[in-house]
Amino acid sequence: TVRTRFAPSPTGFMHVGNLRTALYAFLLARSQNGKFILRIEDTDQARYVEGAVDVIYKTLESAGITHDEGPDVGGDFGPYIQSERKKLYLPYAEELVKKGAAYYCFCDKQEAADPAPEGDPAVSGYDGRCRNLDPETVAANLAAGKPYVIRQKIDKDGVSTYHDAVYGEITIENKVLDDQILIKRDGMPTYNFANVIDDHTMGITHVVRGCEYLSSTPKYNLLYRAFGWEVPEYVHLPLIMGRDAEGNVSKLSKRHGSVSFEGLVAEGYLPAAVINYIALLGWSPKNDREIFSLAELEQIFNVNGLNKSAAVFDYDKLTWMNGEYIKALSPEAFAALAFPFSKLAGTALEEKWPLIAPLLQQRVEKLTDIPEKIGFLSEQPDYSAELFRNKKSKATPETAKAALEALIPEFEALEAWDVESLNAVMTRYAEAQGVKIGQPMWAIRIGVSGLAVTPGGPSEIMTILGREESLRRLQLARQ
Ligand code: GLU
Repeated sequence: TVRTRFAPSPTGFMHVGNLRTALYAFLLARSQNGKFILRIEDTDQARYVEGAVDVIYKTLESAGITHDEGPDVGGDFGPYIQSERKKLYLPYAEELVKKGAAYYCFCDKQEAADPAPEGDPAVSGYDGRCRNLDPETVAANLAAGKPYVIRQKIDKDGVSTYHDAVYGEITIENKVLDDQILIKRDGMPTYNFANVIDDHTMGITHVVRGCEYLSSTPKYNLLYRAFGWEVPEYVHLPLIMGRDAEGNVSKLSKRHGSVSFEGLVAEGYLPAAVINYIALLGWSPKNDREIFSLAELEQIFNVNGLNKSAAVFDYDKLTWMNGEYIKALSPEAFAALAFPFSKLAGTALEEKWPLIAPLLQQRVEKLTDIPEKIGFLSEQPDYSAELFRNKKSKATPETAKAALEALIPEFEALEAWDVESLNAVMTRYAEAQGVKIGQPMWAIRIGVSGLAVTPGGPSEIMTILGREESLRRLQLARQ
């Protein structure tokens, strides 16, 4: 069976690029009835961030990307946190030393950084001075407790070729493959070593990860072969780019906008919309459809739809898609999700939220648009005579004033302060005057809101504001 994994390092936030990697690995597993594994890559203790693993769990959970095995849910291939696997790696590295595919290196950092004295400048990295230490020296150094690292021994002749599901055939000159460190001085494995051991021992069949690992993969393949293990299928994903105001395209970063899942959610994007959007950021169903539920994606995802050209993160497109998701929510779900964004908690309008929410659902693309859209409910309207002029409804400051004069007492006399009764008052007036309903409505809308465009019509607004505040505003507007 297909087994894929997401192997994030706990950095404290989830970049959308990493989330996309997780999503594709998850979809690949689900589409093949396989298993999706979460592995935490925390061997870089210097980069350890408190609470960062929780960010990973929370993000995956709210995105709906569920893992079958992982630190929190267990599984037969654990532990799933690299630091808890620490003891596992050294014996594998020692096995490689015995096989001649790795060696002890006793150089200190300075020596290791020295450029090769008469080496080929194209040969990258460590100059290999410990490559051929005689076994006695190695044994003596080890016995004396001399600190060491274990490095991969790489034959620098020729080229290495492998197949990637997205990029096709990749060929790298072996001279650029450095004798990378497998086990560090502190006994911890490097990512470069741990990923191979873990992917093999966890039975991973497809390695889905960012394209920054394309050039290191030949080194991993040499390790697989040295152990006599099967090399997994590779699915490297292109970069996600951002476009700045000048139209220049570069790797997606903060200056383009929110780049973390948490950031986007805090900005008012729905997790499902973010997931739908990033699913299409490098993958295409090969038709024009754009709105997909996660369940649908789990059915139709296919590596053949992956694209190797870098995708540009289009915030406008995401915003549009988010609007579609907001519109599709049930009214109850919208009201519940949107309330925290309304900033109405603890205000006089809080209890009016059930009336306000329905006016907003079809009119916002981001939940963070809400406070601006309803600001007029709690702010004093600001009128200018010109505001009352409207060509379409043939309204002028004069007709508005007349409408206000006539309508205020009618509203005052109403027994029931509801949309129907309020509308009826305006309809009666329009009929009596022989004008379109739009004309008195325009005056009343401006009167209660100070705005030409509002979510909801004047009667809805008046029911939210209540009798007293509505009449107070209309009196003000009349002057
Ligand atoms: N821990 C690595 C990262 O976060 C994972 C790379 C991989 O998937 O192999 O980039």
